[in-house]
Amino acid sequence: MKNRWPAAYKIIEELEQAGFEAFVVGGAVRDFVRNAPANDVDITTNATPLEVKKIFTHTIDVGIEHGTVLVVVDEPIEVTTYRSESTYSDFRRPDGVTFVRNLQEDLQRRDFTINAMALTKEDELVDYFGGKKAIEEEIIQAVGNPQLRFSEDALRMLRAVRFSAQLNFTLEQETFQAIRSLHPLIEHVSIERVKVELEKIWLSDFPFKGMKLFVESGLSQNFPGDWERHLQSWDNFSSFNVKVNGWAFFALMQSNENINILLNHYKCSNDEKRHVKNVLEAVYSLEKGAWTLDELFLFREEVLTVAYHFGNSIFSNEIAHPLAKFLLQKRTLPITSKKDIVVNGNDLIEWTNKKRGPWIKEVLDILTGMIVNGKINNDRHEIKEWFSHEYLH
Ligand code: ATP
Ligand code: MG
Repeated sequence: MKNRWPAAYKIIEELEQAGFEAFVVGGAVRDFVRNAPANDVDITTNATPLEVKKIFTHTIDVGIEHGTVLVVVDEPIEVTTYRSESTYSDFRRPDGVTFVRNLQEDLQRRDFTINAMALTKEDELVDYFGGKKAIEEEIIQAVGNPQLRFSEDALRMLRAVRFSAQLNFTLEQETFQAIRSLHPLIEHVSIERVKVELEKIWLSDFPFKGMKLFVESGLSQNFPGDWERHLQSWDNFSSFNVKVNGWAFFALMQSNENINILLNHYKCSNDEKRHVKNVLEAVYSLEKGAWTLDELFLFREEVLTVAYHFGNSIFSNEIAHPLAKFLLQKRTLPITSKKDIVVNGNDLIEWTNKKRGPWIKEVLDILTGMIVNGKINNDRHEIKEWFSHEYLH
């Protein structure tokens, strides 16, 4: 571990020197066993938060009541005291956390066997629940009784689907059946957390696998919108590493839902809603086979790119040109935004002596279209001549 995670190694070493136990846990151990790079490294210890804070000079309180302290040694690392989660009465979060003094109890409260292993600083694996075997067999299996575990915390059902999409693992039979029977409990989970998990599925390597499980497990029934129609299309989904494209693709598959109301339900931001609206418009305008110059001018390159791929995967008819040709056409337009026009509202006012008003925008819009379509050059003299001819008598 020393070379792989030097900061975690140092923290564990210090905790051990002070007489405590400490291990790397969670996703990092899973990814170590899989031979994959880890996102972030978490440490678990029998030291209490106060004891941890005494040992390290630079710590940040992030959730002392949950037993977590951020220890900064080169980089910030979460150090959490062994705990069990006592009783759950709302299917969401434990009523209280109980610190425990033994590692096994801490691992037992974790969601899936692949996430319930620990690693010593000498790279010895602590694996009470068969996590390594589950990784070899590529399965996601709840620790203990899945019905019980999902009743404690319903979010775990969606996490199971998400890990399956990220790792391309299968849901173990009993774990899957437990979700099939308990899926309505997901309603107790806040929509913000649901959104995060859905987006992780879309950014994963196997989004189609995730969406299929989301539907087949019954989970999708608890959320507005049509998740089943065009389910197969997710097989062609390309996210381009932007999670909002998942919402755009989802919106595209709706029949007669009001997209705005739908996205509001999932607490999408105004920026996200705007992006989705643009992508949908670009897809619909491509349905006729090609974008006009006006449309190429209107949509940003990212929007065109995503819309092109979406269109390609759902249209029955062929698109006239490859994407590269459309993008080249866009790049060679005489102007890239209205700001590039060599005359502005003040010029128009000066030429006419008319008062400022909505007419200025109307004229500039017409002018934009003419320049984009090559009907007039972006040239002051030429524009003035056209304007005088059209508007000054
Ligand atoms: P990622 O790579 O997405 O960060 P991760 O496994 O590290 O994956 P986290 O959400 O960061 O996932 O959680 C860290 C660990 O905490 C998990 O590996 C798991 O052991 C435990 N855990 C997280 N959420 C839950 C939960 N809802 N119920 C039980 N254990 C959980
Ligand atoms: Mg993590």
